[in-house]
Amino acid sequence: MDLVSDLNNICGPSNVFVNEMMKDHTSFRIGGPASYYVTPGNEEELGELIRYCVRTGSEYYILGNGSNLLVSDKGYPGIVIRLFERFNDIRIDGSRIYAMAGALLSRTANMAAKNSLSGLEAAAGIPGTLGGAIVMNAGAYGFEMKDVTEYVRVMKHDGSTEDIPSHMMEFGYRTSRCIRDGLIVLGAGLVLASGDEETIRDRMRELKEQRSAKQPLEYPSAGSTFKRPEGYFAGKLIMDAGLKGYSVGDACISEKHCGFVINKGNASAEDVIKLIKHVQDTVLDRFGVRLEPEIKFLGDFT
Ligand SMILES: Cc1cc2nc3c(=O)[nH]c(=O)nc-3n(C[C@H](O)[C@H](O)[C@H](O)COP(=O)(O)OP(=O)(O)OC[C@H]3O[C@@H](n4cnc5c(N)ncnc54)[C@H](O)[C@@H]3O)c2cc1C
Repeated sequence: MDLVSDLNNICGPSNVFVNEMMKDHTSFRIGGPASYYVTPGNEEELGELIRYCVRTGSEYYILGNGSNLLVSDKGYPGIVIRLFERFNDIRIDGSRIYAMAGALLSRTANMAAKNSLSGLEAAAGIPGTLGGAIVMNAGAYGFEMKDVTEYVRVMKHDGSTEDIPSHMMEFGYRTSRCIRDGLIVLGAGLVLASGDEETIRDRMRELKEQRSAKQPLEYPSAGSTFKRPEGYFAGKLIMDAGLKGYSVGDACISEKHCGFVINKGNASAEDVIKLIKHVQDTVLDRFGVRLEPEIKFLGDFT
């Protein structure tokens, strides 16, 4: 049996793709081919897939909505496992929501609003999946995912599952225990507060307007490129270093928000990497502050 037949057996042939261009699956619109790209539909399939990968020594990478990711121009020589289209049920029970990892945050927030549940208003504009948001402890406007998370359902390398209470998730600024331990998020239980649907929707609209006024949403990007350094704002440091609009190829420091690297058309991953390096060196030189990328990297960048 070859790898493709095995993947077909596990996830069904219509959910297995070969040499899938990752630029079609990232918000940056950048990235070469993933050798294999698979979309399992439930925990059983995913468990079988992970056990298969471990047994055969096949490298894999979990992808959400690709909104915080730069994929190499050379692509990725392993199996990209995407939890999005087919892994996205949301259940509501009173003030509790269980959302599967592939449910978009915007959809989850809208479901909450529809059920007069407050707490996810600031999450509605973050273009990731629930899984990606838990891994990154995504946040905005003073909100972080940890604020509403009761427990996280995870899968480990052996395909076993566990519900981990929020206080054991080691949530921090744009990080969680998932990163250190390589846990796959299957879903999360959220606890929200009862509210008024109109008030919730008004707040969502207000934050959406603030976002479009300040962020270059008209261009492909992966959101804030750098983490906020303690005591500073990355965007301000970059602007003060005179790098507003600075470009390498089609990769450019947004003029609207210097914290965003945008793709003005045909930027390559190599352009973005060169730009990031130049920004880091310049800001370090001018202000003595080391900017750490917030975005994740997949593939070979040498
Ligand atoms: C225009 C724009 C605005 C943004 N605004 C914000 C913002 O306000 N706040 C903010 O925090 N972020 C923001 N982001 C960044 C991004 O949307 C978040 O980090 C989001 O949580 C990433 O989710 P994703 O599903 O796209 O993850 P991906 O980009 O697909 O993956 C991110 C990381 O999580 C891992 N991962 C994804 N799903 C799983 C899973 N189920 N199990 C294990 N690992 C997984 C991946 O392997 C990768 O390491 C923005 C991005 C864009 C493009």
